[in-house]
Amino acid sequence: MAQAKGNLVTERPIVLTGASGFIAKHIAQQLLSAGHQVRATLRSPAKADAVRAAVLPGLTADAAARLSFVTLDLMRDDGWTQALAGAGALLHTASPFPPSQPRDPQEVIRPAVDGTLRALRAARDAGVDRVVLTSSIVAITDRRDKLFDESDWLDPALPGTTPYAQSKVLAERAAWDFVAAEGQGMRLSTINPGFVLGPILDRDFGTSIGVVRRILAGRDPAMPKLGYPVVDVRDVALAHLRALQRPEAAGQRFIAANGTLWFPQMARILKAAHPDRRIPTRQAPKLLLRLLALFDPQIRMILPDIGHSVQVSNARARQVLGIDFIAPDEALRQSAAGLLARGLV
Ligand code: NDP
Repeated sequence: MAQAKGNLVTERPIVLTGASGFIAKHIAQQLLSAGHQVRATLRSPAKADAVRAAVLPGLTADAAARLSFVTLDLMRDDGWTQALAGAGALLHTASPFPPSQPRDPQEVIRPAVDGTLRALRAARDAGVDRVVLTSSIVAITDRRDKLFDESDWLDPALPGTTPYAQSKVLAERAAWDFVAAEGQGMRLSTINPGFVLGPILDRDFGTSIGVVRRILAGRDPAMPKLGYPVVDVRDVALAHLRALQRPEAAGQRFIAANGTLWFPQMARILKAAHPDRRIPTRQAPKLLLRLLALFDPQIRMILPDIGHSVQVSNARARQVLGIDFIAPDEALRQSAAGLLARGLV
């Protein structure tokens, strides 16, 4: 008879896709710290040593033996059946999160949607009944002025929707549809994080921390008036674990976000923490941004959001998952401290 930790079967490995990712490394660390076996998937097996080096420090010596790796690509069928065989649960985080949008939206949509379906099919076939998918608040919110919650869905056909947002909403929809139609009782939860900041575990830190690096580097003369709900990566990882552990989380989406930070505000927080650095804090006029967007695809991507701040409710994650969210300015300061300590700025 399997031993349960919370409601989660622990002798069987937990499959964690995209283990080289910023968020996934924190999830791996928390799973190992809680005593679980982690079967981590990578598309590039060469990253295994780097992931080990990022997640194992600070854990007990036995953690290394509980961390194993398999090679999987979201775009290929090979390996999924073996990866899920004998697994106790699936945490599917892998999905493209590019710093700028591709010309062909399918470059991000296909791996997101097809990869999610490959993961779910393999899990179902292996008899894995608990799955947590990393979605995003971009699968929930649009530019309307309202407080969004888990009952809201982005319409992917809305003009101005980025390929990345389309990839997230289409992948999440595909997951819920699959579970309803073909899941054979599989229980799905999604975690929908805001803009994820917080400590980095190594030099491979993904797109959201890239934004902090850009501000710290003083690369832009002024900050766009843009506000995003922020969440600390440690809370995002904890939300994934709790969603697995708590039976009442099954069948639900969870917004993981804790208050909006505007970019000029982020620059001021970073300037206050690192007064020796040249960090411009003034607000960029929209006209200037329109001009810069002609040359800079990252600015082009954010242009439609200027002046707008998304508001989301995290009430469900607090109530059902018991997350007591870390303050967004603390998450931001931790990202900056990690980048500076590693000489990455
Ligand atoms: P990272 O870019 O750090 O991680 C993305 C992961 O997906 C990497 O492990 C990457 O592998 C993997 N991946 C991408 N394409 C493929 C593919 N074709 N086959 C196999 N693996 C692939 O991003 P984050 O950690 O920030 O994001 C993780 C998840 O969280 C994503 O689903 C993202 O959409 C979501 N999210 C992130 C937010 C944020 O602010 N960071 C906010 C909301 C949601 P490789 O290392 O080989 O590139």
